[in-house]
Amino acid sequence: MGRDRMTNSVWGDARKKLRELVGEHNFITWIAPLGLIEAKGGVARIAAPTNFIANWVNRNFADQMVSALNTSGAAVSRVEISVEMRQPTSPQPRPAAEPAPRAAAASPRDEDLPGAALDPRYTFDNFVVGKPNALAHAAARRVAEGGSVTFNPLFLYGGVGLGKTHLMHAIAWDLQSRNPEARVLYLSAEQFMYRFVQALREKQIMDFKSLFRSVDILMVDDVQFIAGKDGTQEEFFHTFNALVDQGKQIIISADRAPGEIKDLEDRIKSRLQSGLVVDLHPTDYELRLGILQQKAEMNRGNYGNVAIAPDVLEFLAHRITTNVRVLEGALTRLFALASLLGREITLDMAQDCLADILRSSERKVTVEEIQRKVAEHYNIRLSDMIGPKRLRTIARPRQIAMYLAKQMTTRSLPEIGRRFGGRDHTTILHGVRKVEELRASDSQLAEDLDLLKRLLES
Ligand code: ADP
Ligand code: MG
Repeated sequence: MGRDRMTNSVWGDARKKLRELVGEHNFITWIAPLGLIEAKGGVARIAAPTNFIANWVNRNFADQMVSALNTSGAAVSRVEISVEMRQPTSPQPRPAAEPAPRAAAASPRDEDLPGAALDPRYTFDNFVVGKPNALAHAAARRVAEGGSVTFNPLFLYGGVGLGKTHLMHAIAWDLQSRNPEARVLYLSAEQFMYRFVQALREKQIMDFKSLFRSVDILMVDDVQFIAGKDGTQEEFFHTFNALVDQGKQIIISADRAPGEIKDLEDRIKSRLQSGLVVDLHPTDYELRLGILQQKAEMNRGNYGNVAIAPDVLEFLAHRITTNVRVLEGALTRLFALASLLGREITLDMAQDCLADILRSSERKVTVEEIQRKVAEHYNIRLSDMIGPKRLRTIARPRQIAMYLAKQMTTRSLPEIGRRFGGRDHTTILHGVRKVEELRASDSQLAEDLDLLKRLLES
């Protein structure tokens, strides 16, 4: 009963939002006949009276439905619309004679739709603030507060997985909760281009222009994508100018600063720089630990209270430094495994089951470092590594360094040769083979190799 009332109230709110989003006429024709059956596991099941209505709504309004449902308190990422012969809130079996059409799910990337769906997890509440992202976070907050436009455009940039998309969605959620009437359009630059090309092909460029110019807030993610695409750049530039002239907020993200995006017209670069440009820096240890703690807390609920030893999070924050998405993936894998095995997450388990991730985020060793360490170890001069001396006491350590360079780096033999004073690749191959041979018979040498490897890896 409680759930039914809840579903009804969510649907009531969502209908109000949808009336605003799609307009009175569309609402009466298409939305009013629908009913919400349930919203569960991120999916809203919607009943329609006919196939025709179901298909039409799917194609034209699925995105607005997702966003209306989300702002009404149902955390869903897609809707499934099908013909249901039952009252929405009191489910009964469907008569066998009338099979329901396969519901075409409206995925966030559905190309028919003006924007992409917002991820309900990407909110300000779920964003961990640290030194590397404090400025970007503060700017995003300020823009989300709305009011008189302060930073326009807001340009966020930074490497992969540092939280650009998360912050943009958070702004959209926040804006929408403060002002449900605001028309917020979020999409990737790729989707922008797709829509533009499609409008050109279907000779609907006027519709395209008026759609984009009618929004209050435009967010374009990964704008580096339109570099080199001339027609799309041009249209983007005009849309951009039209919105700024009307005092509408624009938020852009890219993987690098505007000035560093190749094949982007200068006038667009300078337009992008005319507001506030902020970057997300690579994460530091504290931020990674903070994010892990938060994600562990969130995961715990989803995986039946799996326990995690405190040193595991510290270990991960130390060892996985590349990007937050990889960090999240590692944690999810640990929770899934621990809950399957019915065990606690320990350091041993983490080392075991994350071996591949840990290896790929290992520090990369350079040929120069190898030469330095080996020279130090055998007490010879670094210049002798590269020089021509053939004395055994020098030639042997040189070969050992060649062997380690082949083993520990991804350099090819000719590349290694170049770093050993321009030696030929056959010389390097000879050295590598020699050390391989000796290693089997000379236990002192084998020990030296292990030690050097460990030193270089730490
Ligand atoms: P980008 O768009 O910069 O490539 P995303 O915004 O997609 O990166 O972030 C990648 C993942 O890392 C997302 O799941 C996001 O929620 C998470 N993430 C990144 N930064 C943070 C942060 N500061 N706090 C919480 N989660 C974060
Ligand atoms: Mg992104």
